Amino acid sequence: MMLHPLTPPADAAARRAAKPVVVYPVGTLSKPDITVLEAIRQTIVKQNEIIVPPRDARTFRVKRGQLFRIVCMDGPQVGDLNLWNSHDLAERFFSGKTRALHATHISTGDRLWSNMPYLRPMATISHDTLGWYGWDEDGAGVHDVIGTRCDPYTNRLLSGSDYDRCCHSNLARALATELRVTPREVEHQIHDVLNVFMCTGFTKDTHQYFMKASPVRPGDFIEFFAEIDLLAALSACPGGDCSTTHSNDVAACHPLKIEVFEPDPKSIANWSWPSPSAYHRRHGAPSLVGEDSLRH
Ligand SMILES: [Zn+2]
Repeated sequence: MMLHPLTPPADAAARRAAKPVVVYPVGTLSKPDITVLEAIRQTIVKQNEIIVPPRDARTFRVKRGQLFRIVCMDGPQVGDLNLWNSHDLAERFFSGKTRALHATHISTGDRLWSNMPYLRPMATISHDTLGWYGWDEDGAGVHDVIGTRCDPYTNRLLSGSDYDRCCHSNLARALATELRVTPREVEHQIHDVLNVFMCTGFTKDTHQYFMKASPVRPGDFIEFFAEIDLLAALSACPGGDCSTTHSNDVAACHPLKIEVFEPDPKSIANWSWPSPSAYHRRHGAPSLVGEDSLRH
């Protein structure tokens, strides 16, 4: 929306005709070996499962080399996923850079990257039964990294009322239970999510974030290969399939299932595990004595 419409300059058409350049060309990013990943998948044995009740969240831990699935159970349901390095919560999922490196929506072969100064893959998507969806006529896709998470602050801002079952609160409660503290003490650890199963896009006319009914059905799942030891949290969004509304008790909501799998150790023996970024972190500042001991 432009408050003061301006007269375009004489060369407006020429300026608009500049060709788009993909910011991070796909070819420069090293890709996971999908053939090896598929061979690993063939050896997996289920270790445990966790049920996430509707309008609630649960945490779970996944060791490096294990795989985990988020499974649709009783009906279409969107999930909000957070990931941390289980040994250091300062390293966590970086939705924005994942979007910049891959796309607005991610699927098999794409990776979930961690924040700076670590910037490494935390997990790689090894299978996605909704991979057939692609982009629909509205320009929407599934599993977005453009939304943030529903939260009580935005809800209060827009509706003037308080609601305690938004994904932000669900994730904060679950992490608080895991760490045996109060939600208030850990809510700053909750971060922008991977919107699992959520079908979203930007409207063509006004470029606003929109959602539509998730195409997920019972039995569908998205599967991840853990590249580092993970602490994860998943919220079953109060928006249900996100076809109408969220941040209230109106939508039909369903549980989500998390399944953790162990591969044959031999199958992952030659996987190259990611290290934190090797950038020196001087950021152009004058050198200080002993700075090289200040890594991370
Ligand atoms: Zn939500």
